[in-house]
Amino acid sequence: MKQSMMFIPTLKNAPKDAEAMSHKLLVRSGLVKQVAAGIYSYLPLGYKVIKIIENIVREELDALGCSELLLPALQTSDLWKESGRWDDYGPELMRLKDRKDRDFCLGPTHEEVITFVARDYLNSYKKLPVALYQIQTKFRDEMRPRFALMRGREFSMKDLYSFHSNDECLNEWYELVWEAYKKIFNRCGLEVKVVDSDTGQIGGKEAHEFMVMSEVGEDTISYCNDCDYGSNTEFSNLAERDKCPKCGGTISIAKGIEVGNIFKLGTKYSEPMKATFTDKDGKEKPMIMGCYGLGVSRTLMAVVEQNNDELGIVWPEELKPFKYHIICFDVKNKDQLDVANHIYSELRKQSECLFDDRIERGIIKLKDSDLIGIPIRITVGRDIKDGLVEVTERKTGTSNKVKITDLQAFCSSLSKKKKK
Ligand code: ATP
Ligand code: MG
Repeated sequence: MKQSMMFIPTLKNAPKDAEAMSHKLLVRSGLVKQVAAGIYSYLPLGYKVIKIIENIVREELDALGCSELLLPALQTSDLWKESGRWDDYGPELMRLKDRKDRDFCLGPTHEEVITFVARDYLNSYKKLPVALYQIQTKFRDEMRPRFALMRGREFSMKDLYSFHSNDECLNEWYELVWEAYKKIFNRCGLEVKVVDSDTGQIGGKEAHEFMVMSEVGEDTISYCNDCDYGSNTEFSNLAERDKCPKCGGTISIAKGIEVGNIFKLGTKYSEPMKATFTDKDGKEKPMIMGCYGLGVSRTLMAVVEQNNDELGIVWPEELKPFKYHIICFDVKNKDQLDVANHIYSELRKQSECLFDDRIERGIIKLKDSDLIGIPIRITVGRDIKDGLVEVTERKTGTSNKVKITDLQAFCSSLSKKKKK
């Protein structure tokens, strides 16, 4: 991709209201642009990373046998009245009317719609279990939209729903999704703690949250220093140095960003919405459900929050929008431009490259390059007269002068080193 053609509007200064480092960096590196409070446009580079995250999610869920679908964002109040949430949900629900004065909402979540979609077809134990997910825009009129993508009023979520004929099957799936979530976050370069949580608005029997430990997190979590126990303090009321309820060890308190949330719903929706199936014994029973949310846009935010230095973003290996950033220091110098073009056409045969061919000062290009954090930079500048270019690794800042003729080999040795 030629940078002159790709819209990456980097900024020198962060917006005044940006407190979190990730907020500053997301805006400064031209990944997103705010349109209104809690409402953002994803610009090409930001959207590219969103799509990478989405695909990691898809790979891990498809591997479990889940299938992807797409439900409408616009939902009729009828379904919400069936579940009882039309009155319960409160001011977070974005309500609207159609021209005939009928009530609708913009989906904050999709338990009602998925139950409606599944109930007519999944009518026998023989057709269960089934697990369906979507990656979609959600709408919530949050009281305090903030930290850019962290708490938006419009945001991207992956929501998965599973349907079962018995509790054992739900429990099995709950464990499977739990493990898949760990893999997803791990691949995104995030370390997560899994904590017990309240079932809240969604309801059900048991729930867990996936937390990224971070000072800018809005949740406070208690975790044990000696075992894997963790809980949301909202739910457990534990304090620093309390005894762990699981092993008697010592509790610590820290802030966390909730990136995912899994629930054993049981029959909370299937019962009122009459989503029933005929069981082996010939009896009609409500389906047993699980639901599993993962904040795609919030994950991007958490990734940037956890992976940066004083110069800008440092992408984790799997989320890099491009592998190489080729900088032509001075595009008005024909020799430099020729060499840079040649390197670009060769390297792009094997890997994704961003080629900075802009008519812009070289020094600004290098600053932008550090800011947007592509793992390997190849700078084509004055040294070409000696047949050399500079190769810089973003993570370590290590630079090497490399012969143009050796560049391919040098780059593959860097990739091999990374894999180890
Ligand atoms: P929170 O406690 O942060 O409000 P929630 O419990 O309301 O989250 P869920 O309804 O379980 O969240 O949604 C699933 C996931 O969607 C969350 O784990 C989070 O990653 C993401 N998410 C929820 N609300 C927002 C929001 N306003 N902006 C961005 N992502 C969100
Ligand atoms: Mg919420």
